[in-house]
Order: sequence, then C-alpha cells, then structure tokens
Amino acid sequence: MDRGINTRCLHLEETEGETTNYGALSYPIYQTATYAHPGVGASTGYDYSRLQNPTREHLEKIVAGLEYGKEAFALSSGMAAITLLFELFGPGDHIISEADLYGGSIRLFDNVSKKNGLEFSFLDCAKDDIEAAIRPDTKAVYIETPTNPMMNVSDIGKIAEICKKHGLILIVDNTFLSPYFQNPLKLGADIVIHSGTKFLGGHNDTLAGFIVTSREDIIERLRFLIKTTGAGLAPFDSWLLLRGIKTLGIRMEKAQKNALALAAWLKEQKTVKDVFYPGLPEHPGYEISKKQSRGFGSMITFNVDTKEHALRILEEVKMIKYAESLGGTETLITYPTTQTHADVPEEVRLRNGITPCTLRLSTGIEDVEDLIAELSEVFAKLKE
Ligand SMILES: *Cc1c(COP(=O)(O)O)cnc(C)c1O
Repeated sequence: MDRGINTRCLHLEETEGETTNYGALSYPIYQTATYAHPGVGASTGYDYSRLQNPTREHLEKIVAGLEYGKEAFALSSGMAAITLLFELFGPGDHIISEADLYGGSIRLFDNVSKKNGLEFSFLDCAKDDIEAAIRPDTKAVYIETPTNPMMNVSDIGKIAEICKKHGLILIVDNTFLSPYFQNPLKLGADIVIHSGTKFLGGHNDTLAGFIVTSREDIIERLRFLIKTTGAGLAPFDSWLLLRGIKTLGIRMEKAQKNALALAAWLKEQKTVKDVFYPGLPEHPGYEISKKQSRGFGSMITFNVDTKEHALRILEEVKMIKYAESLGGTETLITYPTTQTHADVPEEVRLRNGITPCTLRLSTGIEDVEDLIAELSEVFAKLKE
C-alpha cells in the first residue's frame, strides 16, 4: 500500500535502514563539482555534478514519489524546467496551449519557442474544443489548472483521453496545487511541471523547478538534455527544497484554510467585484476540482471596482507583501498587469480576463484574523 503523502514528504523508503551519512536525518549537502575515480575505467557512479549529485538525486526521488512519477528532474527554476522541456520539440511542431498561463511561460513560447520553429494555438482549455484544434503536426497539449492568474479549472482526465486518442503528450504545470492536492500523472497526464520556488520550496527563499514523468522515452531524452544544457539544481538549493518539502502538507492545509476564509470575506466587500477561487461553490470549476483534486489551494484572484483602488490596496498593505511569487509561508499580493503578466500583450491579457482592477493573493500561513484585520483597514481607507 502507498504510504500517505505527508510520510512521503519526509521518508524515502529505498534509503531506510541505511547507515551511511552517519544516520543524519537531514540529507547532507554534497557541495562538490566533481568526483574522484577509484581507478581507470572505474566510477562511483558519480562523475560530475552537472550530471549527478547525491543531494539533488535524493530530492528528485522525493518529488518523483510525491507525483507518482518514475523520474523527476530538479532544475534551477521553473522556467529552466519549462525551457528544457521544450527542447523535446523541434521546428514545425505544433503545441496546443492553455491561453491563461503564468506570464513567463507565455513569454517563453512567444519569444523563444516560436523563434525555434514551434507553433502554438492558445485555447481556454476549460471551455474550448481541444480536439478541433488538433493538426497533423500537433505534438503536445500544455495546461495549467487552476490557471495563473484567473483560476480556471480544466478537466485533466478528459484532456488526457483526447491526448491518448491522438498520440499527444499532455503536460500539466501543477505549481498552483502542488502534489499535495493534485497528481496529474495519476489522471493520465504524461509530464508534470513545477515551479519548486512556490509551494514545494515554500519559504520564499530559493528558486527551483521540476519535470516529472514516467515515460521512459522522455526520461532518456531529458537526461541527455540536462547533461548537455546544464541547468540542474545546485546542491544547496536542493537541500533547501528537501527541507521545504518536509512541511508541505501542514503548510498547504493552513494556507488553504486561510484562503477559504479570505475568499468568503472578500466576497462580502463592497469594493470587490469578483472573486475567483475554485473553493467557492459558485466557481465554475468547483465540481471538477472536487473530482480531480484533494483541495482548492491558496491562490485567490479578485477584481476590485476601480484601477485606483487596486493600486491603493498595493500601496497600503504592510504585513501582506506587495510582491511577485506565491506559495510561501508569507501572504503576498500581486498585480498581474505590471508584474507576473507584464510581458503578455494587453489584448491577450484582457481576453483572458486580467484587467487593471485584477489582484492576485497567495495566502500564507499567518493567523487569518490578522490577514482580515489588515485588509479591513486597507479597504476602510479606500472610502476616505
Ligand atoms: C512561478 C511559476 C513558474 C515559473 O517558475 P520560476 O521558478 O519562477 O522560474 C511557472 N509556472 C507557474 C504556474 C508559476 O507560478
């Protein structure tokens, strides 16, 4: 029987009972660039840290276990992971992508992947007919669910069926829910992507990215690509991720509890026009979320009545930090228009629903009374 997810955040079955590393509970940081060989033609299995590093490998095994994948690859950031992944494709390949994506992914596709000869169709994967967009040269479908920032939820299992039928690779960026709440590979996806900077690391202190898959052909190709391009996660950052993951479960639960309370509170505020949180029963993705995920996460996007009020909220928050990023212990508020999605063309932003009145909250693990008290104070000032 599978061990529970909280146990898998802490323990790797295959290393249990080992007495190497002096029994250290905290996995050692193998801060080395290279490894001495015992003799000519002999190797310890470790030759050079761009290819192999024990600390990174320990982390990769933990993350593979959390996502039910055969193999995970730890990269220096989420964007490094996505960039590497797109080396699987070549000139003339067509990708169907969710339209409402993390801004950096759109920037990569528009400015780098297209230059490399890839073609994209951007759809609202929660609503549009994906099958109708498939062409003879289509190779993959790339989605986020919930999407960043509009929190649209698409049905991973249904999209996986379409992909299987047409021989397409289904890639899911699972950053927003983390493996604690959602496992796309179990729902039929081929590849999972994470910005480990967010919930997995969880402390707003380091960057990381992951690619997880069970497909042997893709594993072999990715291993070659990492060796060749060299964006593997550094030993110390791997250790920070291992440390962060130990508390993934309790952080996710607390942050989600705060998000549920904050989403309900935001809905009651006069200044707030729309609240996009899949944990609200009126959210169009509520039922799909309940079916495919174990939680709704802690990301809330909301629209206020005017752009002036949106900017004023950002000016007035103090404990809640006006900052990019998400998924950490501290609550952050972001302005997608000029931050995460600044490089997305305005007409695309507006089509996706990102307006100058849109704000995105990532709830941390503070006491929710204090978060509400601060926002109450800020909202009161808007009336002055
Ligand atoms: C932040 C983020 C990324 C990029 O990750 P970095 O670690 O910042 O490079 C990719 N996808 C999503 C959904 C993100 O939120």
